[in-house]
Amino acid sequence: MSFLDYAPAPESTAILDLKPEYGLFIGGEFVAAGGESFTTISPATEKPIARIAHADSSDVDRAVAAARKAYEKTWSKLSGRDRGKYLFRIARLVQERARELAVAESLDNGKPIKESRDVDVPLVAAWFFYYAGWADKLDYAGLGANPRSLGVAAQVIPWNFPLLMLAWKIAPALAAGNTVVLKPAETTPLTALLFAEILQQADLPAGVVNIITGAGETGRALVNHPDVNKVAFTGSTAVGREIARSTAGTGKKLTLELGGKAANIVFDDAPIDQAIEGIVNGIFFNQGHVCCAGSRLLVQESIHDDVVERLKSRLSTLRVGDPLDKNTDVGAINSAEQLARIRELSDIGEAEGAERWSPECSLPADGFWFAPTIFTNVSTSHRIAREEIFGPVLSVLTFRTPAEAIAKANNTPYGLSAGIWSDKGSRILAVADKLRAGVIWANTFNRFDPTSPFGGYKESGYGREGGRHGLAAYLKGGDL
Ligand code: NAD
Repeated sequence: MSFLDYAPAPESTAILDLKPEYGLFIGGEFVAAGGESFTTISPATEKPIARIAHADSSDVDRAVAAARKAYEKTWSKLSGRDRGKYLFRIARLVQERARELAVAESLDNGKPIKESRDVDVPLVAAWFFYYAGWADKLDYAGLGANPRSLGVAAQVIPWNFPLLMLAWKIAPALAAGNTVVLKPAETTPLTALLFAEILQQADLPAGVVNIITGAGETGRALVNHPDVNKVAFTGSTAVGREIARSTAGTGKKLTLELGGKAANIVFDDAPIDQAIEGIVNGIFFNQGHVCCAGSRLLVQESIHDDVVERLKSRLSTLRVGDPLDKNTDVGAINSAEQLARIRELSDIGEAEGAERWSPECSLPADGFWFAPTIFTNVSTSHRIAREEIFGPVLSVLTFRTPAEAIAKANNTPYGLSAGIWSDKGSRILAVADKLRAGVIWANTFNRFDPTSPFGGYKESGYGREGGRHGLAAYLKGGDL
C-alpha cells in the first residue's frame, strides 16, 4: 500500500430490512401485480437484491382508480394546513430513515454512498419540507387567488436520482392538492418502495400516493390513461417526444424534464483550482448520469493546456469502485445497457479523431464500470460534442472570445444547464444573459435547492420543477 492508498471503509448494509419481493403500492397497501415479476440487481456486483412486481394495464387502471377515489373523497377535501402536516411528517421520516435510504439507493443505483448520504437523501427531505411549507400558502404563490388542484397526476421518473426525482414529483403534487400514481425506473425501484413504507408510517390517507413498478410499457399505459389530469415525465428526449405526441389534445397538463449537453465555460481569469473541482463535480458526480452534467467543457484557448494538465492530475486521484465504500468518488454505471451506450459513443469519439484519455485505475471484475474519461481535440461537429453520453465522459473544446464561447455553448439541440467560470461578475452576467439554458451556475456546478426552479429549453423539455414555478405545474391555469 502506498501512502496515498485508502483502507476500505464500507458502509454496512445491516441497516436494511429488505423483503425478498415487493408488490405494487396501491390504495395504501402492497398488492400483487398482473405482470411477471422481475429482479432488481446491484450494478456494482450484478447480484440480485429483490423481486419486483411488474404492473400491467389492469394494475395501472387500479392505481389510477385508487388515486381518483382518494382525490375525490379525502385529499381535495383537506385544508392546505392538513396536507402540509402530512408532508412535514414525510420529510421527518425521510430524515429518520436517511441512512437506510442512502444505503438502499447506493446498492440499487450504483452511486457512491457519500453522494446518496450527503446529496440525494438530504435533498429529498429538503424538498418535502419546502413544499410542506407551501401547502397552506398557495394563495400567496403568485398564481392568483384560491388556485385549484388538477386531480390525478401520472409521474414517470428515471434511474439516475431515483428517490430525489420521486421527491421532485410527489412533494409539489401533494402540496397543491393532487393525488399521484408514480412509476420509478425499472433498474432502480427499491427506494420508491421503501418510500411507500414511509407513507404507511406517516398514515397518509390510502390512495393519495400509489407506486407501480414496471418498464416502459407500464409508463406508457400510465401516461395514456384517460382518467389522468396531469403528466410529469423525467427521462430521455425520445420518450418525452412520444409522450408530448400522445398527450396532445387530451387536456392533460404536461411537464417534461429531458436530456442535456451542458456547456461548462472556463474563462482565462477563472479561479483555476476552483474551476478544476467544478469541472470534476460537473461531469463525474453520479458517474455523469446527470441530465444537467457539464459534459462539454469550453476552455479559453490560452489556458487550455494548463487546465487539461491539472484535470488529468486531479482525475488520477479519483477513487473508482464499491459504491458502498465511504471513500469512493465514482461508483458503478447503472446498467449493462447504459454501459454499452457509453462505450459505443466513446469509441465513436476516438474514431472521429478526438484524443481519449483515462487515468490508470483497476476496475472491479463484476458489475458495470467505466473509467473517468476525457476527450481533447473535440470539435463541435463530433458526436461526443452533440449527443448526451450520460456517463463519466468529458469532451473538451476551446474558444477565443466570449462571443465564440456563447455561440458554441448554444450550438446544441438541448438547453438544460450551463456553467460559467470567471473572476469578473460583469462578464458572468453578460454571458449568462445570452446562454439558452434553463439553469446557469456561476463559479460552481450541480447545485440544487428546492426553492430554485429547474428545467429546460428546446429538446431539454418544458415546465419547471422546484420553487413557486414547480407549484404552477400542479395547479389549474397556474403559470409563472
Ligand atoms: P427513459 O426515457 O428511457 O426512461 C425514463 C422513464 O420512462 C423510466 O421509468 C421508463 O421506464 C419510462 N418509460 C420508457 N418508455 C416509456 C414510454 N414509452 N412511455 C412512458 N414511460 C416510458 O430514460 P432513462 O434512460 O431512464 O433516463 C435517462 C434520461 O433521463 C437522460 O436522457 C437524462 O438526461 C434524463 N433526465 C432528465 C432530467 C431532467 O430533470 N431534465 C433528470 C434526470 C434524467
